[in-house]
Amino acid sequence: MNDVERHLKRAKNKKIKVDKGVAKAKIEKGIMLVITGNGKGKSTAGFGNVTRCVGHGYKAAVVQFIKGKWASGERALLEKNGVPFAVMGTGFTWETQNPEADKIAANKVWQEAKKFLADPDIHLVLLDELTYMLSYEYLPKDEVLSALANRPKEQSVVITGRRAIDELITMADTVSDIQDTKHAFRAGIKARQGIDW
Ligand code: ATP
Ligand code: MG
Repeated sequence: MNDVERHLKRAKNKKIKVDKGVAKAKIEKGIMLVITGNGKGKSTAGFGNVTRCVGHGYKAAVVQFIKGKWASGERALLEKNGVPFAVMGTGFTWETQNPEADKIAANKVWQEAKKFLADPDIHLVLLDELTYMLSYEYLPKDEVLSALANRPKEQSVVITGRRAIDELITMADTVSDIQDTKHAFRAGIKARQGIDW
């Protein structure tokens, strides 16, 4: 067998394997996707999913659990396209100083999140940076987990943030752990509009 024949044989075997997998996947339901880890790209991936949904004509909603330093480019675009945003207006930042105020702010935005998670018309809910609200115990864990578990069957949810607690990992259908192999910031390069927010 020459190289070309070997390649074709491998490709054919691979196709048989993939087709078998596709045939086995029969369950129709929304998924829970957790995007965690220290590398860059978690929120960007979450917003990519929102864009994908909106492009197919589905309704999506976004909840942001971090008070951003800058207005995000995603919000400017997606709100114009009918995506509701619930954003933590005050409170938690990366350099948090006031846990009590943060807790109040987190619980306020969580009330909005709960409404999205109960609305069967919403195909996808992005809970950006939710992981910290659980690891810092700013939100009632049992209530959050049960709202996630009891969401409408067709609704998907994307959760982003570092250090996702074990319960989220266990409950999720898909978990991606983004590695921090390298980041421009450590070479002294400033965060850039359109790239970092
Ligand atoms: P992005 O919003 O770019 O997808 P992210 O959601 O994965 O990033 P966060 O931990 O939410 O990462 O951090 C948000 C901001 O911090 C972004 O501006 C991002 O570029 C920057 N950032 C992400 N990872 C790192 C890192 N490992 N070192 C330094 N800065 C980072
Ligand atoms: Mg992020």
